[in-house]
Amino acid sequence: MVERAHDPRRLDVAAFAADAGALEGAWPLAGFGRLCGDAAAAADGAVTWHVQGQTRPVRGGEPQLWLRVQATARVPAVCQRCLQPMLVDVAVDRWLRFVADEAQAAELDADSDDDVLALERALDLHSLVEDELLLALPMVPRHGRCGQPLVAPAAGTPPRWGEPDAAANPFAALAGWPRKPPVQ
Ligand SMILES: [Zn+2]
Repeated sequence: MVERAHDPRRLDVAAFAADAGALEGAWPLAGFGRLCGDAAAAADGAVTWHVQGQTRPVRGGEPQLWLRVQATARVPAVCQRCLQPMLVDVAVDRWLRFVADEAQAAELDADSDDDVLALERALDLHSLVEDELLLALPMVPRHGRCGQPLVAPAAGTPPRWGEPDAAANPFAALAGWPRKPPVQ
């Protein structure tokens, strides 16, 4: 059997599944504009991914076409508590079923737990991986233990994770002020 070359940016899903193909790689995060938003230009990490094709036999019918999509990334985000930049670890591992057209995909997607997509002759895995990572991204990203003060510290102040921070208490600064003389 001759091995076909499969292009991850223009994947023939049916041929890839029939070959039980597998592709993997790492794409620069900077190319994932929807995932990273404004931070994309400064993002220096990568999305590592692995995609595998499979056909599942159906009695008396055409075999089903499936892709397993696995990806991990460390995505720049903004902590919604302290509004400081942070990195969110995102990982996906999903099986997607491909069917002949959009109508069939919509029908099957509605009454099954599987994710069903319409078959494309030239599927862009970069875009598919980004879609899946976006779905896995937390709605409200927050530091696991947000040790940052709510008020942004002066530039150069290192974050002190998990420690109580005097700057978080706006009254702490008043402690050193001269007291008013007592009223006579
Ligand atoms: Zn935070």
